[in-house]
Amino acid sequence: MLRLNEIKLPLDHSESAIETAIFKKLRISRAELIRYTIFKRSYDARKKGKIVLVYIVDVETSQEKSLLKRFSKDPHVKIAPDMSYQMVAKASELKGKQRPIVIGTGPCGMFAGLLLAQMGLRPILLERGKSVRDRSVDTFGFWIKKRLNPESNAQFGEGGAGTFSDGKLYSQVRDPKYYGRKVLSEFVNAGAEPEILYISKPHIGTYRLANIVKNLRATIEELGGEIHFQSRVADLKVEQGQVVGVELENGKSLASKHVVLAVGHSARDTFQMLGDRGVYFEPKPFSIGFRIEHPQSLIDQCRFGSQAGHPKLGSADYKLVHHCENGRSVYSFCMCPGGKVVAAASEPGRLVTNGMSEYARDESNANSAIVVGITPEDYPGDPLGGIALQRELEERAFKLGGSSYDAPGQLVGDFLANRPSTEFGKVYPSYKPGVTLGDLSSSLPDYAIAAIREAIPAFDRKIRGFAMDDAVLTGVETRTSSPIRIKRDDNYQSINTVGLYPAGEGAGYAGGILSAGIDGIKVAEAVALSILAN
Ligand SMILES: Cc1cc2nc3c(=O)[nH]c(=O)nc-3n(C[C@H](O)[C@H](O)[C@H](O)COP(=O)(O)OP(=O)(O)OC[C@H]3O[C@@H](n4cnc5c(N)ncnc54)[C@H](O)[C@@H]3O)c2cc1C
Repeated sequence: MLRLNEIKLPLDHSESAIETAIFKKLRISRAELIRYTIFKRSYDARKKGKIVLVYIVDVETSQEKSLLKRFSKDPHVKIAPDMSYQMVAKASELKGKQRPIVIGTGPCGMFAGLLLAQMGLRPILLERGKSVRDRSVDTFGFWIKKRLNPESNAQFGEGGAGTFSDGKLYSQVRDPKYYGRKVLSEFVNAGAEPEILYISKPHIGTYRLANIVKNLRATIEELGGEIHFQSRVADLKVEQGQVVGVELENGKSLASKHVVLAVGHSARDTFQMLGDRGVYFEPKPFSIGFRIEHPQSLIDQCRFGSQAGHPKLGSADYKLVHHCENGRSVYSFCMCPGGKVVAAASEPGRLVTNGMSEYARDESNANSAIVVGITPEDYPGDPLGGIALQRELEERAFKLGGSSYDAPGQLVGDFLANRPSTEFGKVYPSYKPGVTLGDLSSSLPDYAIAAIREAIPAFDRKIRGFAMDDAVLTGVETRTSSPIRIKRDDNYQSINTVGLYPAGEGAGYAGGILSAGIDGIKVAEAVALSILAN
């Protein structure tokens, strides 16, 4: 199979245009082309009004050998790598070996569980929250009726933190073994649009994700795995540095010397328990800030000019970074085109924002987190100091919003001028249950407020209108990534607790759905090799 790079075509190209471009580039006849598949489609929007689609295609041809010779010096024609996933182990039967336990059914736990099931190891998955259907009732109930269930919400429950999200599926992690492809392929098998395999910034959208999560669970169960909901792991059993099992909050205990810990970044009680059990972890940098909302049309116009609204382009996104005079960096995070700001709290009396979109990304506002990077120097001492800071900021936000889960908000013009807001302008915020306007300057540490005040006008120089007076800020964004890293060795096990496999975002090894899924695969492979070697 040959891989052809840099096929550039206009947005409105015909269906046959790719084939024609292949014939032209390779100088082969129709009879010599066996088939082609699109490996990647992106767009080049550097020239506004003249945006082009850029394809990478994989071509099967009867002339492969001679073409490779002819194009040996052409960087745009290469042999396509084999990206198919090969299992590292396969157990025909367990023969008395203990089944592995996976704690958490976010993307990391789900993919660890799926892979372990595919390798014949019949994993037991334990999830503190409810199945995705029941969880949806609780989460949407909170957004409407302000009733928070601390065990069933935007963070906890089947599918993990990413279930009610935009479902962006890209990551910058190094992936030499193409595990990301395996994650995307399994999402497609479970019902995602096949286009996620080739568009450059794929996303699934929140309602479709819920269905996909359910289908992944069915596959794990068909392969002999088990998933238990409302089964919070309250304790780890460790004997002489070796994990031997877990204890559930409901009093049950399960034995296993292989426990995958994929609990996400919001499992604060679980982190505390790990500390009490002596599992080694360190504080880690994360970020804090606000959500910002603009009209999506403003972002589209700025990024795409006269071609804004073209169906091949969809709603535009952005990625911004600014290095501030006080040494801090401010960046946009988890941008959700045509989406909504959501209440992502998991603890009573504390308020957290995040963002989501549906597949169509057709809501009127664009939102993203505008966050400031912070490090353990900002919360010195206790390894769980980052959590204490998160909690303090979330409590402040809760109070500023009126102690009712309404988010505190401020218009960008007022925030920059350091005066409280009293009335919405052209942008109406999407956060439910509601937004209480006021002054956000006391919601974050002074250095963070100063950094965001400097960054927004700087972003306006990149996206004209970003600092528009009526754009809305809502606070606070505190759960951008885990505040700790649970150190692991080359075999993916905790450095001081044998058989414990810290994984995914909560352990500090992933920063999104795709990277969490990839980490789940890596850890599942390590678990399988260890079980089958003993
Ligand atoms: C609203 C929102 C939108 C997001 N949008 C995107 C996006 O568009 N794209 C993207 O890449 N990322 C997005 N993210 C981030 C992404 O969801 C996370 O990076 C990802 O889910 C991390 O996966 P994980 O499996 O490591 O942890 P999680 O998804 O957090 O899963 C951890 C699971 O463990 C369970 N658990 C915790 N403690 C215990 C315990 N003691 N016992 C049993 N179970 C336990 C939890 O209930 C949870 O289900 C979003 C997050 C949120 C909240």
